[in-house]
Amino acid sequence: MIIGDFYGRGTPVFSFEFFPPKTEAAADDLLATAAELQELHQPDFISVTYGAGGSTRARTLELVSHIQNSLRIPTMAHLACLGHTRDEIAEIAGRLVSSGIVNILALRGDVPKEGLPADGEFRHATELIEFLRERFDVGLGAACYPEMHPQAVNPDEDLRWTQRKTELGARFLITQLFFDNNDYFAYVARARAAGIAAPIVPGIMPITNVAQIERFTKMCGASIPKALHARLDRHRDDSAAVMAIGLEHAITQCRELLARGAPGLHFYTLNKSLSTRVILSAIKS
Ligand SMILES: Cc1cc2nc3c(=O)[nH]c(=O)nc-3n(C[C@H](O)[C@H](O)[C@H](O)COP(=O)(O)OP(=O)(O)OC[C@H]3O[C@@H](n4cnc5c(N)ncnc54)[C@H](O)[C@@H]3O)c2cc1C
Repeated sequence: MIIGDFYGRGTPVFSFEFFPPKTEAAADDLLATAAELQELHQPDFISVTYGAGGSTRARTLELVSHIQNSLRIPTMAHLACLGHTRDEIAEIAGRLVSSGIVNILALRGDVPKEGLPADGEFRHATELIEFLRERFDVGLGAACYPEMHPQAVNPDEDLRWTQRKTELGARFLITQLFFDNNDYFAYVARARAAGIAAPIVPGIMPITNVAQIERFTKMCGASIPKALHARLDRHRDDSAAVMAIGLEHAITQCRELLARGAPGLHFYTLNKSLSTRVILSAIKS
């Protein structure tokens, strides 16, 4: 099952992203969360992020193969190439494929504070896509940035590299989180004008904690609209109020995205199911 094909079927594709847990107990919780989401909302696919450390990397492999082979949900493994040699990437991709995982989100990964690793043989996701395309029979997706990647020279240059990712074989693009749909629709219009035909899937992060979302947006170069931020800020120490504001915003955002033709929604779940379940129930009702 190649995930790129799902976007051509004419109904919205719903996907959930998890990160590999650090402990066995957290891994059990996560599998319970995935099973719960599956029972209630039948995700089209689940994706599992690629961690920076060796032990979380091993867990990515365990988790993707368990979700796909035991829970029977199509699963996509994220793979970040920065710091890896070609042999390492070939080994990881080979292990994924032999576990039955045939969908990979091909990424660069973030540059560590101490700078680019000396022994890495990849500099960009474009190189990873090309490498995987030539050697493995897998379906590929890639990342894109409605508000521009924070290290990009300028928006046009960023879009040019994104286009290159699709030319090299990424069948769909998943966006960085964003909170203003105008950013998404303007980006899609620019991408189409630049010749990018691939589905551009909105990445949705339900806000549940103000300090956390401030940290995330600062790190990834996304913005929180002023009015939303002011509202959140007034209730920053009231977790129930923050959750309610976050849900209200995400539901409005998701309804409009689907109504105006987004090919699906990719939820950054942060390994929790509650917000995603509430949002999906609201938009499906
Ligand atoms: C949906 C999604 C999922 C993610 N999952 C993970 C994950 O699981 N693990 C993880 O570590 N990180 C993950 N990230 C974060 C991601 O690794 C970072 O955003 C990273 O800084 C850039 O990754 P990229 O694949 O977009 O890189 P690239 O496509 O390489 O882009 C990075 C920068 O380089 C420029 N560029 C691109 N190609 C070239 C080129 N060939 N030559 C020169 N410049 C170029 C771009 O304009 C951009 O500014 C995810 C991000 C998204 C949006």
